[in-house]
Amino acid sequence: MFRQRTLDKVLNDYLYDVLKCVRCGFCNSVCPTSNISLSYRDSRTSRGRIVLLQAKHSSVLNLSIESNAIQELMDLCFGCRRCLEVCPAGVRIPQLIWRVKSSGPLRLNKFFYTYYGTFEKLGAMIPTLSNLLVKSNFGRTLLEQILDIDRNAPFPSFYGDSLEKYIKKHSSSNGDRGRLALFIDVFTNYHDVELGIRTVNLLQRLGYRVEAPPQMEAGTLALEFGALKRAVKIARFNIDSMYEFIKNDGKVITISPAAYVALKIDYPELLGDEKSRIVAENTIDIVDILLNEYDDGRIRFKGPVENAVYHHSCFTKAARLTTSVKRLLELAGYKLTEFEECCGIAGIWGLIKKHHEASREIGNKLFTKIEHAQMPVFSQSETCRLQLKHYTNSRIMHPLEGVMDRILL
Ligand code: SF4
Ligand code: SF4
Repeated sequence: MFRQRTLDKVLNDYLYDVLKCVRCGFCNSVCPTSNISLSYRDSRTSRGRIVLLQAKHSSVLNLSIESNAIQELMDLCFGCRRCLEVCPAGVRIPQLIWRVKSSGPLRLNKFFYTYYGTFEKLGAMIPTLSNLLVKSNFGRTLLEQILDIDRNAPFPSFYGDSLEKYIKKHSSSNGDRGRLALFIDVFTNYHDVELGIRTVNLLQRLGYRVEAPPQMEAGTLALEFGALKRAVKIARFNIDSMYEFIKNDGKVITISPAAYVALKIDYPELLGDEKSRIVAENTIDIVDILLNEYDDGRIRFKGPVENAVYHHSCFTKAARLTTSVKRLLELAGYKLTEFEECCGIAGIWGLIKKHHEASREIGNKLFTKIEHAQMPVFSQSETCRLQLKHYTNSRIMHPLEGVMDRILL
């Protein structure tokens, strides 16, 4: 007979996080999915989810955590981590929700998303066919039927080659400034490859040898879909590979804040070992590399003063990279107007049919502000850029795109 798992078995150490919630509601004030029209129905808020788990623990709630009702409520947390900044009790909300999701039913789309790195790799091997699939009505219907990806949601095109291959082909043997391992996010690897190539070329001109050691996707989606075993496996593989690289006097770099958060925060938490701590200590984002180059007098910036919007993506905030990104853009001549609202996409969450309208509602305030600003927009997150390009007419760029042409070596 199928036996339901108890909340303490599912949560282990995270059960205490549920119990220490004081129900203040501060998390609701910053939680993007708690501030849309569907939220206060049935208490679908950040606090509501924790109170529900408290009720389950004290046996007031007579529903299993595997039940659709509970899993659907947990699905409304898309792991943006904004609540972590404000919770006075230090409740690790997204982390405990991944664990509750891990007891949910296995579905085809969940399987696909937790192995998305493999599927993206396959897609990039047949770019013409893949692009036909993601751009045609027939293809979008198929994606909607099989994978629940809303046919109106933005979807990136495949570039036709991977950044990983480019690096392997063009990795120079010199590099007197040191060796850098690029931990490549899936988006830059298969979709925004030009940004990756320009970044690699810039680092090579600065005297670094850039390499791409064996690596898997960051595993953010595996966590979001509650596939914890898969997430641990990915973390183990990436940490072992990056650790070997670091042992030989290398550093690890990232372009995407999600990749940075994986190496700096998620892997040490998932694995809890010395290797992941060492990799985290030796990981640096490209933005901080450029700031170090500037502080050491190796680069300067030219270019006119220009107004621009800086969008604080959820993962840039979680990675604590916001100050660095702003400083880099300001050094390059941009006078920034800052928008902190969430764009609503949250990785893949906003692409999924049942969330697509909510995703748009979350992002609407930001889209309107961007349209009114009539300035170029910088956002470090790859999926935020995808969403903002889809819903606004503004020029949306990674901060590096605005900075690279203004660097004097
Ligand atoms: S991680 Fe984001 S979506 Fe989830 S509860 Fe926290 S603020 Fe809300
Ligand atoms: S902010 Fe923390 S303590 Fe307050 S309701 Fe949210 S989870 Fe509970």
